[in-house]
Amino acid sequence: MSCNISISESACYFPFLNRSMAYLSRRGFSLDFVLTNSAFIEKAIERFKKSLGREPFNPRQCLDTPENIAVAARLALYIAAATKNTYILRRFIDSESKNFTILLRKIPGVQDPRCKIEIAKDLGIYAKQASEVVSGAIVAVYNLPMAVRWVSYLRYAPQDPYWAMINRPVIKGWVILPMEDFERLLEEAYEERMLQIVRENELAVGRIATAVDMTQLEDVIKKYAQRPVQLSYQQTEGKDPPCMQAIITALKNGENLPHTARFAITTYLIKRGWDLEQIVELFRSSPDFNEKITRYQVMHIAGQVGGRKEYAVPSCETMHTWGLCPTNLGCGVKNPLQYGRKSIIKKSP
Ligand code: SF4
Repeated sequence: MSCNISISESACYFPFLNRSMAYLSRRGFSLDFVLTNSAFIEKAIERFKKSLGREPFNPRQCLDTPENIAVAARLALYIAAATKNTYILRRFIDSESKNFTILLRKIPGVQDPRCKIEIAKDLGIYAKQASEVVSGAIVAVYNLPMAVRWVSYLRYAPQDPYWAMINRPVIKGWVILPMEDFERLLEEAYEERMLQIVRENELAVGRIATAVDMTQLEDVIKKYAQRPVQLSYQQTEGKDPPCMQAIITALKNGENLPHTARFAITTYLIKRGWDLEQIVELFRSSPDFNEKITRYQVMHIAGQVGGRKEYAVPSCETMHTWGLCPTNLGCGVKNPLQYGRKSIIKKSP
């Protein structure tokens, strides 16, 4: 890596990069070896607990025992998967990827854009410095130092109007963007990498489930597992449309939803007469839930704070553009709110 750090430190900071995992296997840290060493398992349990508690990772640890920390991180991911609790796994992955971004910004050798481009390459993102694609003057004036190949951009950009490619300068197939947004793309790709590791290592997850006494994790799992959503659903007349049902189900399953989906469901539930506190409660199962921020956002959408404008439910056309219409505009309505009324009319004799 052209970053000004050693490969062992790099593995410690970013244990889920391909190069980190290859480095550990070259050094003989096979699963068979690490599972016979209780010190690794203890460290992994510690990492698992700290990640669930969203404790920031201390990069100074990497100066002493980089390989051990990298191994512990990998085992901690397997432990998270072995809990068989989607919410715990997602919370762990969310926390690890947030730490990843903090380290990208904090570690002196990694702050160099060339280093971030190498990390991007490891994650399957094709990137360059924007000055290789457009004039340096434009880069300086608009502060858009990075360029990402459009295919990579579309793959990892969050589903949010801010990220729509139409709102970005695109030059010869390269999307030009500020460093902060580039780092966010890397974070999304890093999350995806962890999910991929879990998918491809079912056997390893099974082995860790037998090697670790999972009962010792019951407390921590109970503490951070998704709390049952206490909702006295104010069933207004008519059924919820498939798009909103899908968002509610995803929320209850602890999935990390794009901003567009959160915005859409909030506007919809407000119009359906839900109490704002109930809506906040529904978001509690999100892996990145922050009560204060969520309450403010819900109140903002309801027009109770900020610009004091209550937002309308997005039209079906908009939902479709955001990738949130599972029926491909097949409900015969123009707005999800009309779906409930239509279902009542259909039922009437
Ligand atoms: S057509 Fe409209 S109401 Fe039906 S699923 Fe799509 S967005 Fe929702």
